[in-house]
Amino acid sequence: MKDVNEQSTPPLLVVQSTLFISTLLISVVGVPWYAMSIGFEWSAWLACVLFCGFTGISITAGYHRLWAHNTYQAHWTLRLFFALFGAAAVENSVLAWASGHRRHHRYVDDDEKDPYCAGRGLWFSHIGWMLRDWPSGEEDFSNVANLKKDRIVVWQHRYYVPITLTMNFAPALLVGYLTGDWLANLLLMGVARLVIVHHATFFINSLAHYWGRRPFDPEATARDNGFLAFFTFGEGYHNFHHRFQTDYRNGIRWYDYDPTKWLISLASWLGLASNLKKNEHFRIHEARVATQLKLTEQRLANTDAPATQTERWSALLDAEYRQFLECLDEWKALRAKIASTSKDMRRGARRHLRSIERDLKAQLRRLSALYMEMAPT
Ligand SMILES: [Zn+2]
Ligand SMILES: [Zn+2]
Repeated sequence: MKDVNEQSTPPLLVVQSTLFISTLLISVVGVPWYAMSIGFEWSAWLACVLFCGFTGISITAGYHRLWAHNTYQAHWTLRLFFALFGAAAVENSVLAWASGHRRHHRYVDDDEKDPYCAGRGLWFSHIGWMLRDWPSGEEDFSNVANLKKDRIVVWQHRYYVPITLTMNFAPALLVGYLTGDWLANLLLMGVARLVIVHHATFFINSLAHYWGRRPFDPEATARDNGFLAFFTFGEGYHNFHHRFQTDYRNGIRWYDYDPTKWLISLASWLGLASNLKKNEHFRIHEARVATQLKLTEQRLANTDAPATQTERWSALLDAEYRQFLECLDEWKALRAKIASTSKDMRRGARRHLRSIERDLKAQLRRLSALYMEMAPT
């Protein structure tokens, strides 16, 4: 088989290319021209910001974390909101988006099968993959059978074009009618908003696979980047997300900027979302500690310190790491036992579990002190 870069370039897809180019031109030429010659009222700016929020979060909380990854379940009212405002983002139907995204996770960094493979370049992973009829982007809905049972998803897919046109023009024209300036709202809330939401989403496929740290999986191209998280409703913690895709959170620390996880938590509190999936604290640390070990070993191999000292460090690190894994195995076994035993038996096992967790925490502290001492970042 030919290398993917040697294959002949497929022809441009006219509708997609025209949409991306025309909306970008209007945003960088038409919007500043209007701002300087006539000026936007505060109501037009406010409507633009709100609509940015509604459409953006419908992609992150709806298309991505709900439908593509099933990280929680949502009430039909919330699903309808996400389906309508997600369509306004013009990123295809839920079914097509989730299907492509599941392939991205399954075959990540595979030139032939990952539809927006980062290895094919920043341009390709950002927008290039949508401009041409690449074989890697061929639609195949065999991986979204569960979504075909969701009536809202099926309805949105069937009527995607009229829903998308309505959701893009109707709100802007309505606000324009109410405020007396339909052109200002079409420009800001309609077009500029669309371009902002488009590229914010696309940055996750491009920049979030190039720029940032890899604390959970050092082999993957996906990165954690708090700066990108700020512009993408929390989706910038992409290394964590690729390692733990069933978690409803992307930013796991309470202070990580992740408005999507906050919205899902709020929806759960209001009774609109349930079954929020979360990976266990120590399983996440297992991945983090393994990554730190790999990086520390690499640094020790390249250090100028005398061989006797690096050998002593390696042995110490190895012993601590093995002790941590043994304790973690004990913790996993006890967790499984608690899940399958009677209530009375569980009480005693829980006490034991808490004592193992205290040991695990102490070991994590020791390991991170060792990493810092041996290979400070
Ligand atoms: Zn994902
Ligand atoms: Zn990715």
